[in-house]
Amino acid sequence: MPTVRAAELQRLGQDVFRAIGVPEEDAAWMAQVLVRANLQGHDSHGVIRIPQYVEEWRTGKLNPKAKPRILSESPTTALMDGEAGFGQIVAREAMTLAIRKAGGAGVAAVGVKRSGHIGRLADYVEMASAQDMIALLFVNASGAGQWMAPWGGREARLSTNPLAFACPAGATPPILLDIATTTAPEGKVRVKRNRREPVPLGWIIDAQGEPTTDPEALYRTPRGTLLPMAGHKGYALALMVEILAGILGRAGHVCEHPGLDYNGLFIIALDIARFLPPSVFRAEVDDLTRYLKSSALAPGSSRILTPGEAEVLTERERAATGIFIEEETWTQIVTAAHQLGVAGPA
Ligand code: NAD
Repeated sequence: MPTVRAAELQRLGQDVFRAIGVPEEDAAWMAQVLVRANLQGHDSHGVIRIPQYVEEWRTGKLNPKAKPRILSESPTTALMDGEAGFGQIVAREAMTLAIRKAGGAGVAAVGVKRSGHIGRLADYVEMASAQDMIALLFVNASGAGQWMAPWGGREARLSTNPLAFACPAGATPPILLDIATTTAPEGKVRVKRNRREPVPLGWIIDAQGEPTTDPEALYRTPRGTLLPMAGHKGYALALMVEILAGILGRAGHVCEHPGLDYNGLFIIALDIARFLPPSVFRAEVDDLTRYLKSSALAPGSSRILTPGEAEVLTERERAATGIFIEEETWTQIVTAAHQLGVAGPA
């Protein structure tokens, strides 16, 4: 089981993306956000995705040289076509546009269709918090990628429809909520499957609707489904994400015959300075988190974290110790690299 240094993974990812025609600076960004996902503890959205993206390039689903296009816009809104570009590049471009518009008008909303898989949502909402803005990001799969049954059902009808929300703080890291609306995203079941480990109860049900810990239940026919987080509430949230990204953002909503599972994005950006001075905002967020952390600990608990803090702590640890990658995933990555003439780490 290899444990690999972040710098080596960055080099490998960058070389692979360059080899399939991604421009140099974009290849570096793609590798950076994938490796950062591993560093921050979200292996499901890290370098495990390299073989997937290579395959999506090979089949013609993704265009490494695509330039996202604005289809329509107003001072506060825009609709974009990602032109089947890699999601990390499309999402960065869309968030840059939302930040620019929110800087001009105080608030902005941007919808994006036909983006490749964007990976973790965190990186994009953090772009906004770094500029004293609050961004909310909602993502669907253009009506495809159906993994979650509607609450009360046992047949997949919804994607894992993640959402993310970040805001700057003062002394603490930015507050970051970044979650799938399923208990676990499909990628986390994929990691368990590659590690030949059971999944916790509550992640999936089998095709008969019975709880199971067998990750294969999600992939064999007839297929099981992912459970929504927090029962009916996760289902309801997933539906709202589907409406924002799929209908309002024009990416397409779930239906009997969806097209390809591109990510559809809906971004809302708010300029804090239009409401109060950002320094005051940051100080109040610090006051708030200090108060949260003053709570007595529950039995068995060693600390209280703010959303986003766990990732910062994991990054500190993994930057020092390296990133553990299970054998199956490592073989898939190295095979994809070798097929493109890219050497793995020595
Ligand atoms: P998760 O269940 O690991 O939850 C992560 C969130 O919970 C983070 O905001 C984290 O800071 C917070 N958190 C964790 N421990 C905490 C604690 N003790 N106190 C307070 N907050 C805490 O997330 P997930 O649902 O497994 O999603 C993992 C990743 O998958 C996300 O980054 C998401 O963007 C990504 N994803 C992407 C897609 C896509 O299509 N691009 C689809 C699904 C999920």
